[in-house]
Amino acid sequence: MEAKKILVVEDNEDTREILLYRLKSMGNYEVLLASNGKEALQIATQTKPDLIIMDLKMPVMDGWEATKALRKTDWGKDLPVIALTAQAMERDEEKALGVGCNDYIAKPIMDYAILKKKVEKLLK
Ligand SMILES: [Mg+2]
Repeated sequence: MEAKKILVVEDNEDTREILLYRLKSMGNYEVLLASNGKEALQIATQTKPDLIIMDLKMPVMDGWEATKALRKTDWGKDLPVIALTAQAMERDEEKALGVGCNDYIAKPIMDYAILKKKVEKLLK
């Protein structure tokens, strides 16, 4: 089976690298990386990922703006997006779902089994 493509969008380099490593150990995934929303839209346009994991607070273009823009495209309107929210920012989750994210997970991620479950559910 061909590897599913997951685009990780995160401005923090350490978090980005950890997610890359963790996702690769979770399954047959090709992991692509972007460090802000603008870059994410460019990469997604070219590579058409199967799922996006999107940090919300980023420079240049944040995750809310990027998801809103994605939802306006033909190929991205139904693309699964998991938002990375900051813990203790309850409004983040609400706002993420409001712009069309399918799910969210709070950072720092303590339990990668939960992320794995969410990823697998959305890739089905
Ligand atoms: Mg951030």
